Amino acid sequence: MKIAFIGLGNMGGPMALNLHKAGFSLSAFDISSASCEALRAQGVPIADSALAAVDGAEIVISMLPASQHVEKLYLGEGGLLAAMRADALIIDCSTIAADTSRKLAAEGAKRGVGVIDAPVSGGTGGAIAGTLTFIVGGSEADLQRARPLLEKMGANIFHAGDAGAGQTAKICNNMLLGILMVGTSEAMALGVANGLDPKVLSEIMRRSSGGNWALEKYNPLPGVMENVPSSKNYAGGFGVDLMLKDLGLAQENVRVVKAVTPMGALAHSLYSAHSVAGSGALDFSSIIRMMQGGGQNP
Ligand code: NAD
Repeated sequence: MKIAFIGLGNMGGPMALNLHKAGFSLSAFDISSASCEALRAQGVPIADSALAAVDGAEIVISMLPASQHVEKLYLGEGGLLAAMRADALIIDCSTIAADTSRKLAAEGAKRGVGVIDAPVSGGTGGAIAGTLTFIVGGSEADLQRARPLLEKMGANIFHAGDAGAGQTAKICNNMLLGILMVGTSEAMALGVANGLDPKVLSEIMRRSSGGNWALEKYNPLPGVMENVPSSKNYAGGFGVDLMLKDLGLAQENVRVVKAVTPMGALAHSLYSAHSVAGSGALDFSSIIRMMQGGGQNP
């Protein structure tokens, strides 16, 4: 079975590598030659173009930044959908608008091509370890076809509902993640401004009622944890602009369904200011820099 993998960035790179290591016959591509070379060096076959990668592929996986990239790749002029086998399956793992996922699924159905939206949670650590959570929208039959591949890249697979449902569940999760990273950053900065040892404070809160995923796996303060973006100058990881995109998708949806999400709106506003201030390419835990600078005598 030939698999095409398009988009070899922070997440797609390690996901493709895990499939390669599991023995799948892969043809991978990214518009960034640096990303291609990094995977080629680890033995993953790289195609000359996205079109060449999907030629004859039974399953096409994509891991791109945002809606516009996915729409252009599959449905734009010279898009992949028209060039794919009629019995192929698209597994789009990008976090994008649910409407775009539904549009892609509808266009795929016209050609007999199955489409599932399968955004992920678990960060770059989960992508490397093959322990991602997949949040799937689409038909049960298409999910069954995708399962053997998803199981090599992830530890949890949830079927959220029909096309687009994976994206909706994912933006609910990421709105919560943005809010809790802001809250965790505030609490850490307050404690440190009072002279507390950040490692001690982190451990107290992690095991107390403030415990959450950021304290468990992704502490925003440099030096508290090894191998997280905060301890690598906020390089790699999950970019501020990607978090801003997800918080924006949540707010767009809020206007459609008339939900009440004041904390989500505030998190969107804070990440927007952080991005405008020049931090768009840093990891999203760098939001703590906004809250630092205190430390007057308590
Ligand atoms: P990234 O920017 O590191 O990687 C995206 C890759 O897509 C880049 O290498 C880029 O060159 C490539 N690309 C863009 N357009 C392309 C095209 N037309 N053809 C081929 N390649 C193309 O982003 P990432 O961190 O890997 O995130 C990818 C998606 O996963 C995003 O939607 C993000 O929101 C989501 N996500 C990221 C994380 C994380 O921790 N980084 C976690 C969960 C979900």
